Amino acid sequence: MKKHKDHSDKNESEPDLHKNTRDPISLDKSKELTNYFRREAKKFISPEDFIDTGTLTDKNRYFHELSLTDPIHRALSEQGYRNPTPIQIKVIPVALQGKDILATAQTGSGKTAAFALPIIQRIEARKTRGRSFPRALIVSPTRELASQIGENIKKYAWYTRVRQVTVYGGVSKIPQTRQLKKGKDIIVATPGRLHDLITEGVVELDRIETLVLDEADRMLDMGFIDSILELILMIPDTSQIMLFSATMPQQIVDLANKVLVKPAIISADPPASPVDSIASSVFFVEQDDKFSLLSHIITTEGIKKALVFMKTKHSADRLVKKLRKDRIRSDAIHGDKAQHLREKTLKNFKSGDIPVLVATDVAALGIDVNNITHIINFDMPAEAEMYIHRIGRTGRVGKKGIAYNFCAERERHYLVGIEQLIGQHLKRAENYPFMSQIPVPEKTDLSEKRK
Ligand code: ADP
Ligand code: MG
Repeated sequence: MKKHKDHSDKNESEPDLHKNTRDPISLDKSKELTNYFRREAKKFISPEDFIDTGTLTDKNRYFHELSLTDPIHRALSEQGYRNPTPIQIKVIPVALQGKDILATAQTGSGKTAAFALPIIQRIEARKTRGRSFPRALIVSPTRELASQIGENIKKYAWYTRVRQVTVYGGVSKIPQTRQLKKGKDIIVATPGRLHDLITEGVVELDRIETLVLDEADRMLDMGFIDSILELILMIPDTSQIMLFSATMPQQIVDLANKVLVKPAIISADPPASPVDSIASSVFFVEQDDKFSLLSHIITTEGIKKALVFMKTKHSADRLVKKLRKDRIRSDAIHGDKAQHLREKTLKNFKSGDIPVLVATDVAALGIDVNNITHIINFDMPAEAEMYIHRIGRTGRVGKKGIAYNFCAERERHYLVGIEQLIGQHLKRAENYPFMSQIPVPEKTDLSEKRK
């Protein structure tokens, strides 16, 4: 552990977002701090803190304006990336300077390249001949997401000497360990497997220069806060830390206040704004009729690629069975399925072999499948923020998407929460079968704040 700088001029109990070094945090201390921040956080992060990116926010900017090197340009043009997305325009120049970043942007906005490109470029610039060692660590909440990040990095770094390894649970450690022992520049990992590999001494973090926490909001929801704080204790306190999140709940503000040093606070769109490119409508239908409505919609609309969200693993499996009986090809992914089965299902869904994928929130998190045309919330999400995550699975970069929400009577209060969060009413579907007999509720006042 590095020695900390003397902050004797500062009141110990007053955390300062604009300090120059990262204080080592103990878990006890962090609990204390969390309480403090919960009260005080608003003081540190306010809309006025959002950095002024000036003319950089203009449309139709080019990657070469972002100080990226030729090998990276080449890889990007091979990927068919013509223009950087807004979050990439804002993040890349700042990340290249090694600054800490707190970034929010809706799902599908291109966050992976926003953090990966600067990491690759910075490593490449200072790469020496000898054996590689891990200089960047990217932590993501799920296996699927980790493997997608790893795949992307491989492509982006194709013309550089930078190499990555992806490690996650549910599969054998042996190939991952072998890869790690060869020496890699970037590690992409899920928290659990990373923890194991650190404990076994296969992964060392003492020369990490950049740490990325991707989908940080989900990571906290999934209870990874202690693992994250532990990691931050293990990396050098000079490391750059970047927090990427689709939403900005209070917990993220707290974490940012705790671990980031003079961060650039970047938002490509207003926090928790509805994904405007998605046409969302709500069907009032009782639980027992939801399956019939789903089957009706899939058949009559000839849906080719739909992601259906369910509350539980069990109900997801049951739904797949029923759909198959109606001759609708579908499969489910959820946490109880073996990793290789999940990967196979995802592959079949990507290729279009299976038009309907049924998923639970955790399993679907961060799935990047092109051309999902419909998101169907068979069960309404209990948390309003989860709604944004779910519908973010469609309408990726410039594509239109449709979201259907099946709302039973006992889920109607969830709808209110969602509408208040996104600041608009979902369109009420008209003329559909199996409509609830219970009168459709009045639209609620959106100006009323969520609790
Ligand atoms: P997020 O992490 O914000 O959800 P991703 O990084 O997964 O988004 O990117 C979503 C999709 O957009 C991916 O398929 C990715 O390849 C693609 N993409 C990212 N940046 C660009 C770009 N500049 N131009 C075109 N497509 C892009
Ligand atoms: Mg992402």
